[in-house]
Amino acid sequence: MKIVLLPGDGIGPEIASATMAVLEAASRRFALGLDFMPDIAGHESLRRHGATVTPALLEKVRQADGLILGPMATYDFKDESKGEINPSKFFRKALDLYANVRPARTYPGVPSKVGAFDLVVVRENTEGFYADRNIESGSSEMLITPDVVISLRRITRHCCERVARAACELAMTRRRRLTIVHKANVLKLGDGMFIQICREVASHYPDLVVDDCIVDAMMAHVVRNPARFDVIVTTNMFGDILSDLTAELSGSLGLGGSLNAGDLHAMAQAAHGSAPDIAGMNMANPCALILSASQLLASHGKRQGLESFLKAAAAIDSAVVDAISQGQATSDVGGKLGTEATGQALAHRVLDAS
Ligand code: ATP
Repeated sequence: MKIVLLPGDGIGPEIASATMAVLEAASRRFALGLDFMPDIAGHESLRRHGATVTPALLEKVRQADGLILGPMATYDFKDESKGEINPSKFFRKALDLYANVRPARTYPGVPSKVGAFDLVVVRENTEGFYADRNIESGSSEMLITPDVVISLRRITRHCCERVARAACELAMTRRRRLTIVHKANVLKLGDGMFIQICREVASHYPDLVVDDCIVDAMMAHVVRNPARFDVIVTTNMFGDILSDLTAELSGSLGLGGSLNAGDLHAMAQAAHGSAPDIAGMNMANPCALILSASQLLASHGKRQGLESFLKAAAAIDSAVVDAISQGQATSDVGGKLGTEATGQALAHRVLDAS
């Protein structure tokens, strides 16, 4: 499996290095034959190549079997004409990575204010309210007069169907519950269509229990009783916000992994940002990127029918759970280790996995 690894900005290089250590251990233990193709994106690429991402990099990623994108200083990248392209948007759009799969769960040993839970937010990733990706060229946010802005939201049958299918397939491998999150009481046409299509797709999975919830009420339900949810499917912006909440409820943003999946490509990416406030301090939690990389291995294993990749992903996930519960973790989840030592501890556990 060829994997392009882009460390990114802020804490990116530190957590990417810890992730590499764990993946190398997994490759050795499960004979995966991982072939890393490190490259650069974000500020370093802007300095060296005049753009945060380049066509040559995209081509390299297209030829690979997976991408690990470290956190990017997205907020710094404002002017595309100066090469300041949002790398996350760039890959999601260019590789048509339509389903952003964001698991969130509590961990033994990490205090939770909301009780134990284990859920996954499946967020549509290619349209919705995102002005940089829902039209072919340009931005769908317009300054009409100095005091008037119009932001357009795109919802299409095609994108609703494919994200709904991804969510249903996932729910069938878990507790077989699907919750559709929307704002159809206000966005009657767009979210009305989203619910209708999700229900149509889900009707082909008779074993699924399906319900729906308005996004504002959902915030209260998730805080009150997250254990009642299994797989949640929603549109782009609602999923972005909801999944940050669920990651934080799990104990730390540093535990929020995610996979951006399309039909041909997949990109692992932590749900958190570049955390400039703790960059270079060897204190960032690498688990979000490590768990994202584990999702990438599992998705490759499923696509290619390779049991060893599924076993490796399960070993990484167990190593994270066990290490955190025994305090072998960073301070945000109650441990005393630095980023590098956390990566080493996890790598040792993966090497010893049965
Ligand atoms: P960006 O501008 O790149 O989005 P940010 O700091 O605004 O960066 P995040 O990176 O998501 O947003 O960080 C939000 C808070 O969570 C910060 O206080 C940060 O230190 C903390 N945080 C984020 N990621 C981690 C991590 N992996 N380990 C520990 N703390 C983290």
